[in-house]
This record gives sequence, C-alpha cells and structure tokens, in this order.
Amino acid sequence: MTHSPLDPVLVIYAGGTIGMIDTPSGLAPGPDMEARVRDALATLPDDRRTALPPFTWIEVEQPIDSSGARPEDWARLAALVAEQANRHRGVVVLHGTDTLAWTASSLAYQLQGIDRPVVVTGSMAPLAQQHSDALYNLESALRYAAMPELQEVAVSFGDKLLRGSRARKWHTREPDAFESPNLDLLGKRHGNDFRLHREHSLEATQRGAPRYELGDYHGLGEQVVRVVLWPGIQPWQLAAWLGDDRVKGALIEVWGGGNVPDDTELGAVLAEASGQGKLLVAISQCPHGTIDIGHYAAGKMLADAEVVSGDDMTPESAYTKLVHLLSLPLSLEQKRRLFRTPLVGERG
Ligand code: ASP
Repeated sequence: MTHSPLDPVLVIYAGGTIGMIDTPSGLAPGPDMEARVRDALATLPDDRRTALPPFTWIEVEQPIDSSGARPEDWARLAALVAEQANRHRGVVVLHGTDTLAWTASSLAYQLQGIDRPVVVTGSMAPLAQQHSDALYNLESALRYAAMPELQEVAVSFGDKLLRGSRARKWHTREPDAFESPNLDLLGKRHGNDFRLHREHSLEATQRGAPRYELGDYHGLGEQVVRVVLWPGIQPWQLAAWLGDDRVKGALIEVWGGGNVPDDTELGAVLAEASGQGKLLVAISQCPHGTIDIGHYAAGKMLADAEVVSGDDMTPESAYTKLVHLLSLPLSLEQKRRLFRTPLVGERG
C-alpha cells in the first residue's frame, strides 16, 4: 500500500471515559464527540494546533464503557481499521482505559504487518472535565499517528508511547496510567517534541507487509479462560475451568520463573486438557521477567502436559494471542508453534 503524507489520519471513537459525560446513573459515553474533540483541539496554542494532521472521524455504532468490551468488539475494530487504513496515513482509536491494553494487543495480532501507525489512546478524566488529561492524550495520539516511521499498533498515554502488545494499565487514577514492564518505550513526549525510539521498533519481518488476519472471533470469550494460580488451589478447581467442553484454550498464570504447586493431580488435569486438544499456555504472575518451564522440578509438570511458555508476555497479550490463534483454521501443533513465535514483538 502506498500512502501520501497528505492523507488524513482517521480517528475511530470506540468509547471510554474520554468521551463520557455525567448522567443520572454515572459517567457514560456522551453525544457529539467529534465536535467536542475539534473544539478542544482548537484551544491549543497556535504552534501545537497547526502541527496536528487533518483527520476524519468514524464512531463505532455504540460507543461503550470498555469494561464491557468483548472479543467481538476487537474483531469489529480490526476490520474497520483494515478497511480504512489505505485511505489514511494513520489511525487513532479512542478507547476506554480499563481494557485498552487488551484491545491494543488484539489489534496488533489481527493487523499484523500494518505499514502505518495505529495509535490507541483514552484518558483518565472526561474531555469536558477541568484539568483532564484528554486533550493532551488526543494531541499526542494524533501526532504519533501522522508519523510514517511508526508501523505498528501502539498505545499513547501521558508522555509515553508503548507497544500495543506489551502495554498494561498500571494505575487506577494517575494520568501516567500505562506501562510496558518488559519492553522499553517506543517513544516519549518531551513538551512539544514527540520522539520515536526507532531502535525499539518492530523487526523487519514483523512489519511493513500487511497480512491482516481477521479471524472469526464470535463466541471466543467463553472458549478461552484465564486461571491465576493461588497457594492451595485444588485439582477439582482447575478441572472445573479446563474440563468444560466449551473451553478450547487456557492462559495459566504460574509462580515466578515458571513454577506450579508440586501436585501430580494438578498435572494430570493439565495433561488431560492438553490431550483433549486444548491450547494451554503459561506466563508468570510477576509483571517483570520471563519464565523458563522445566528449569525447576516444580515446573516440569507444565512441560509434561505440553503447556506452551508465554515467555515474558503480559496477560493481555497472551490471552488475546490465544483468542487470535483459536480464531484461525490451524492444527493444535501450528497454534502451539505460532504461540511460541514472536508475531508482533509481543515476546522475547
Ligand atoms: N471504565 C472506563 C472505560 O474503560 C475507564 C476509562 O476509560 O478510563 O471505558
């Protein structure tokens, strides 16, 4: 695809606090968001306003509080970006912060090899509120979405630009609400200077050749479970999750560097689920660092049960990758191999 630097950026409004207004039942997405955004941007000082790219606007049918987002919403957003990308130099997605990292990760898998920026942002306070972070975040996202050197799905929040498949919501209230614990920033805003750290951008094999994979995400939210281990977990409890016929994949969050309780019955539950063709993957409960399955005897049962290591992936990224792989017509072995392979810089 070719694109001209004169093409506008596309802004997709999906919902979230950024566009919310007070209602009798609390904050909820409000109307006329495009006009409110354009009015707010018009208040920026001249030098910052004139540095913004022109943009066109699309709203999803029903902007939502992202706490209600589902895999089907991720698929609809990806399809919209895929359909619109070649008419725009970049895309900004305005999204609620609660599940923003999940959506950003999912978009990264579905839009593999995108050759222009897709920048997901939101805000901790509504645009209409005094001292809100919304205008600042909007400005940054628009500036990054106009940079042809950025060729991936990213999250812009506060002063940070983070890889979409590495980002996590890290704070419930602070405007600096996102981190990517296992990867350096892709860029950083210093005042009116929007820097890209190109040394951290995707490898050539992972960008630059759009090969969108828009799978069938219908119903996948109930087919993939996330089990965070706790001391004292019983085999019947794990079996209640993994043994259900509706479950096709599971993210297991284990101890430290890749350990699980030394309980052969737990191992048997895992092995049985794997034997039924379910895709099981593991990451650590520690936000920083990788896991090495089988390094300790206490982790060997994961290897024996063919649980695939998620290395240093975030829960959001591992879960959305599971959903993505399960949406594709692939064999269990192909899915395991692709899970181990970095597709969009999400691991390793
Ligand atoms: N509940 C909101 C949402 O995720 C929170 C926010 O946007 O900050 O849509």
